[in-house]
Amino acid sequence: MSINKTKIIATLGPATSSKETLLKLVNAGVNVFRINFSHSNHDDAEALIKIIRDLNNEHGLNIALLADLQGPKLRIGEVEEGAILEPGDVLKFTNKDQLGNAKQVFMTYSQFAADVTVGERILIDDGKILLEILSTNGIDEVEATVIQGGPLKSKKGVNLPNTKISLPCLTPKDLADLQVAIKHEVEWIGLSFVRSAADVAELKAIIKEHNAPCQVISKIEKPEAVVEIDRIIEETAAIMVARGDLGVEVPMQSVPLIQKMIVDKCHKKGRPVVIATQMMESMIENMTPTRAEVNDVANSVLDGADAVMLSGETSVGKHPVEVIKAMSKIISYVEESGQVSTKHENPPTHRDERFITDSICYNASKIADQIGAKAILTMTFSGYTGFKISSHRPRTNIVVFTANRSILNTVSLVWGVRGYFYDKMESTDNTFAEIKQIVKDRGIVKSGDLIVKIASMPIEAQGTTNMLKISQID
Ligand code: PEP
Repeated sequence: MSINKTKIIATLGPATSSKETLLKLVNAGVNVFRINFSHSNHDDAEALIKIIRDLNNEHGLNIALLADLQGPKLRIGEVEEGAILEPGDVLKFTNKDQLGNAKQVFMTYSQFAADVTVGERILIDDGKILLEILSTNGIDEVEATVIQGGPLKSKKGVNLPNTKISLPCLTPKDLADLQVAIKHEVEWIGLSFVRSAADVAELKAIIKEHNAPCQVISKIEKPEAVVEIDRIIEETAAIMVARGDLGVEVPMQSVPLIQKMIVDKCHKKGRPVVIATQMMESMIENMTPTRAEVNDVANSVLDGADAVMLSGETSVGKHPVEVIKAMSKIISYVEESGQVSTKHENPPTHRDERFITDSICYNASKIADQIGAKAILTMTFSGYTGFKISSHRPRTNIVVFTANRSILNTVSLVWGVRGYFYDKMESTDNTFAEIKQIVKDRGIVKSGDLIVKIASMPIEAQGTTNMLKISQID
């Protein structure tokens, strides 16, 4: 199994629904499986959740689940076969549900005519078709001139980059899908088309109401979210650079710099960051990636992504296992070069309630690098110290020991972190001796290696992490 530090998220779909295939993907390097509620119904999602939980139990794995909510994604309705739009054509969008053609099409979003204004742009099918709004009746009809034409296909997504849409971030469909995610306590929930920190707070409040351990990933794919990025990072457990929709909503040439800016800000704040979409797109069909795709994955690893994500490549692609193998190879080659780090030193400066813990985590990372330690071992219930140490990007292994089974899987998305179940907290000496033995037995360290251990003292109180110890493996 892969021991890369940069994690891999694979989206599930028809190409990856059998237990046998999922185990092959895990053995090739997958750390997190994504269920995309844009395409998955509740029965399919529950069947997949069961398979992954069974794999974890049967093989002692900690694979995490990411339930990705569709969010306010706009779509056109069914369109008759062969409809083609030419530049200069006028297309009417209507809220009346009917079979569309090259003259008029059903728009699923009921507030469309009220929200848009003349001159704004409409993009269909990931920006393949571009239109400009000519008129709106403010109720249920909008006319638009085709600027860039092409085949108009059923149920394609619609992006309105210049329009402030009045749909809530969590649609009725999302709220229903969320119940499935919460019921099964998936580790991560993806919130699509986030526009503000308030959107994230709304989702977190629902999760809290249900007392569920799920953490939120904000998907950055709207220009408003880029503007609000600092507040969104502050409010969220992790961030995803969702380049598919982002590259339609903002000029596509700006996406690479937005990616770097977001990774940088996430490192500063100690938040995991995921780079998503079209990373190995050509492998949906082909056995090998393009050289540009290899560069994209390598550069995302060098930028400092915690995880890289595959969508169509694993959900509907012809070679899901080969994609993971190829991606794992790129990641390990780049990581072995020793060039993956963070630009930020980030020592804690504020005497807040986390000051002692943050100082221990920062210094554990620095000392581990300075003495060439083979692992940093941390005891945690919330996972906080695992996230925090990871954000300093030490060169060594980060091993989290926890009695919290949910956190064990959650950290599978976080750069460099591995989790092990441990629930005996008798005495500091006993615990340290046992966890040292565990990392030795698992082959993470060997006799003579140095390790750095951090914990709260006294250990049985499970309080603030306040102690750092260096020792040598017997
Ligand atoms: C994206 O747009 O890049 C993305 C990850 O979103 P989704 O696959 O849910 O459309």
